[in-house]
Amino acid sequence: QRTARRVLAAFDVIRRTVDDNADELGRIDAIAGDGDHGIGMQRGATAALAAARHAVDLGAGAGTVLERAADAWADKAGGTSGALWGVALHALGAELGDEAKPTPSDVVTGVCAAEAAIVRLGKAELGDKTMVDVLVPFRTELAARVESEVDLAAAWSAAADVAEAAAEATASLVPRIGRARPHAERSVGSPDAGAVSLALIVRAVSTVLG
Ligand code: ADP
Ligand code: MG
Ligand code: MG
Repeated sequence: QRTARRVLAAFDVIRRTVDDNADELGRIDAIAGDGDHGIGMQRGATAALAAARHAVDLGAGAGTVLERAADAWADKAGGTSGALWGVALHALGAELGDEAKPTPSDVVTGVCAAEAAIVRLGKAELGDKTMVDVLVPFRTELAARVESEVDLAAAWSAAADVAEAAAEATASLVPRIGRARPHAERSVGSPDAGAVSLALIVRAVSTVLG
């Protein structure tokens, strides 16, 4: 239940971060996409937080809390990113399970499972200008830091630095997949909305891992 409560705290900061940045995320998505990324992430994060709270109140373990929150996110967010966040959080929950205290390497395995779920569903490759361009370097850095026995909070925070740099670097990419593709050239010079929101979220989550 301590881990489950920490997962709940994570959804709380995720919701707050998404709310604080919703207008900006919408603006970025509107450059070449349809402008709904901020509102979709708000709907997803709000539903996920409510579902997580409900599951914790019922005494659920961390994995179950994540799975319930994931399903609520996918159900309420709409859009491509809602479905992708849903499968990612569900895979993370399934991998972590309800055991009392996952180790840092369990967390790495969970993040790998989340990445695999996103790639399986979305089929984006590195360089397509999507959230995958942040997730892969984030996961790589996290795994490397945990491997060298840095504690989880420090490893996650170093990986969040990499995620932020990777999100900024998507500005130079041309979208090859998703709704931004038809207006691809218009987005060059601006980062990908889903990449930016992922970087914001991993940064926010580092505050509950300390
Ligand atoms: P929609 O494109 O349906 O309006 P959103 O605006 O909420 O959904 O999300 C758009 C973001 O989703 C993009 O910025 C990109 O990061 C991500 N995305 C879109 N398609 C894919 C995909 N096939 N694989 C991975 N990420 C994707
Ligand atoms: Mg959109
Ligand atoms: Mg849309």
